[in-house]
Amino acid sequence: MYLKSAKKHVIAALLLPGFVMILEAGALLREQFSKYRALENSRDYAYITSQAGYIASFALPQESIATTTYQMSGSEFSAQGLETARAETDRSLASVLEMLAQKIAGRQDIVYAIQEIWNATEALKRFRERVDNESLPAEAVIAAMKPFSKDFLRLVSVLRFEMGTPEATRQINLFLDMLDANDASLQALFYSDKYLRGEPLSRAETQALAGFSALLSENIEKLRSYPESRTIGATLAFNDTSQGKWLADLTGRIEANAVVPSERLYERWQNVKAQQLQALRKDLDESSAEIRSIGDAMAAEARFQFTAFLLAGVTLFGAVLAALFLAAKSVRFIEQLMRDREQLIGELQKAAHTDLLTGLLNRRGFDVALTLRPNTRLVSGGSSVMIFDLDKFKHINDSHGHDVGDLVLQKTAEIARKLFRVDDLLARHGGEEFVGFVSNVSLAEAADLANRIREALERSELQLENGESLRVTASFGCARIEGSVNRASVHDALKRADQALYAAKSAGRNRVICDIDIEPIDMLAKPAA
Ligand code: GH3
Ligand code: MG
Ligand code: MG
Repeated sequence: MYLKSAKKHVIAALLLPGFVMILEAGALLREQFSKYRALENSRDYAYITSQAGYIASFALPQESIATTTYQMSGSEFSAQGLETARAETDRSLASVLEMLAQKIAGRQDIVYAIQEIWNATEALKRFRERVDNESLPAEAVIAAMKPFSKDFLRLVSVLRFEMGTPEATRQINLFLDMLDANDASLQALFYSDKYLRGEPLSRAETQALAGFSALLSENIEKLRSYPESRTIGATLAFNDTSQGKWLADLTGRIEANAVVPSERLYERWQNVKAQQLQALRKDLDESSAEIRSIGDAMAAEARFQFTAFLLAGVTLFGAVLAALFLAAKSVRFIEQLMRDREQLIGELQKAAHTDLLTGLLNRRGFDVALTLRPNTRLVSGGSSVMIFDLDKFKHINDSHGHDVGDLVLQKTAEIARKLFRVDDLLARHGGEEFVGFVSNVSLAEAADLANRIREALERSELQLENGESLRVTASFGCARIEGSVNRASVHDALKRADQALYAAKSAGRNRVICDIDIEPIDMLAKPAA
């Protein structure tokens, strides 16, 4: 039925977009999630970078200084200092290794970095054993510790682009330049310290000092190319003070071997150098905090976006569900409407085919019922029709009123229906005239049925309100249907039955006559009044 396919169309029209929307939402969710992971990654790399920078610029130099001091004095105090510095190096190494280990998946370069750090850690352990057992010159300490610092500077350099935003990369570049400056400053410190303590520098050492101080001023110049940065103020500011200028000038004169070391000069130099390192330390701390906060901001943004996306997704899903729910409701409502409609059509059809007064079929209902019957040609015995008409009915109406006439019609229908089989058809053909269709019987049997109806009518009494009782009779005409049962054959049989009824009326009423029993001449006679 066309309604059912309309229902399918409605459901498909609603489900298809919903399905496509869910697929698209799935793809978007994957995309958003990988973006989210990338930004979370950036935060992790920010922390690794900052930690690696801390190890290179502070933990390892601090351990170098503590080692040299211990080697020179051997005091209880210096031993404690060394212990503390080593513990700090180990703590920061462990933390950077742990953070890196979480980033290994699919990253060969990270695996290499971890291997390098691991090897460096092993070498550091061996070097510490030597420090504990041998007496080593300061140069040997510096030479041994320096490669470890370089490893971490390299790690920062490798991770420079991992954070994926230009802002972060620029900040890490600045951090790297600052680490270089710090490294150069620490290296230069070693040679100046030696010179000012009164130990003359070899030619190579003088050259090294010149190299590191040139590197330091070069790196500080580089820092000036980040004018907007908030994190390099202290180093540049110190450099421009008279102290900073004095330090640069003194280093130049040491390189030229034009300074006479003295205790006062050594003290002043130590003081000023410490200020320079402090300024670098401050800037390094701030720069690394800036990198971490960029990472944090990226991760927070990622989390916010992802949450917003999830919320939007959930809302969309809810909307799709609501639409489907409403659609299902509408479809059910339409179905109910269609059922009501079919029921109504059925009732209207029944009403159109039924005689309201008696509940029998009307003329149209009789015709339709006949066409709907299975073809009775195959059935033995054939079929017949009868027509019967109440006798002197006009008189009943006239003397008792139309309502009594109606009651008589109803009573007649009731009596006749009881004698008809369910498979046969009985209809009120109009006025006080009834027709019947009897299948599977001979004409004689049909006439017999007619006679039983006639007798039953004749016997029955209708009790009126005024106490009188009323009797009614009817006249019957029967005829056999020739050939197969169809509109034409039934019509023909009815015509002959009508002639037989006419003959019955003429012969005095209250009787049954079959078409085959009437004389052709009778048909011309008028029924007796
Ligand atoms: P006859 O024996 O020759 O058939 O006589 P009759 O009086 O029955 O004759 P006729 O067929 O001329 O009259 C039929 C009457 O039936 C006329 C009409 O008033 C009455 N009639 C027809 N339909 C109805 C109905 O629905 N209700 C009532 N009460 N009377 C009806
Ligand atoms: Mg009549
Ligand atoms: Mg009549």
